[in-house]
Amino acid sequence: MTFDADTKMQFLYTLRSKGVTDARVLTAMEQVDRADFVRGIFAERAYEDMPLPIACGQTISQPSVVGLMTQALQINPRDKVLEIGTGSGYQAAILSKLARRVYTIDRYRRLVEGARAVFAKQQIANITTFTADGSFGLADQAPFDRILLTAAAEDPPGPLLAQLRIGGIMVLPVGQSDAVQSLIRVTRLDTGYEYDELRAVRFVPLLEGLGQE
Ligand code: SAH
Repeated sequence: MTFDADTKMQFLYTLRSKGVTDARVLTAMEQVDRADFVRGIFAERAYEDMPLPIACGQTISQPSVVGLMTQALQINPRDKVLEIGTGSGYQAAILSKLARRVYTIDRYRRLVEGARAVFAKQQIANITTFTADGSFGLADQAPFDRILLTAAAEDPPGPLLAQLRIGGIMVLPVGQSDAVQSLIRVTRLDTGYEYDELRAVRFVPLLEGLGQE
């Protein structure tokens, strides 16, 4: 699938109109071809601002939500970032353009393998993938400068809070699945954690254990 310059211009215009204004985030989103992360008939809709179905009954997030979450993370070029919920790999690819290294985890091996193939195709070399229950984070690689969850938890998982560096930022949707959730930002201070609520969102739930595919 090839897209013309007008389609990409329109895409960037839509992102800006929905509040994605950080120039570095917009540049990253211009660089990463979302069509590679979407299969079959949905690929032609890759530049529409909507979530789309991917394998294993999951979804690739809406681009403007990807942009807003990435912007809220305030990533620095030297940061080590952890993402829970690889899905298609699109969000991880955006993070990889802004950070030094990205670790991404999904509970479905099939999704992780699909994402790895796209990272190779796009010559992205600073993402490390894992098939695991991401609620426990990655103790071996901790602490992280930034952590992003792209599946909704009822509360921020304790191991992830513990694996956030002091001064670090975690962004995640919280709330019951199937209800409206809130996107929140957690900042770790040396005295504790500070929480702020960003907006209403809707994500698939964070589930326990490994997936069957
Ligand atoms: N960030 C993705 C979209 C994620 S959809 C993208 O850019 O395409 C949410 C993902 O979270 C799904 O792929 C789901 O399998 C995964 N997930 C849910 N619970 C999980 C858990 N406990 N550990 C790891 N991944 C999980």
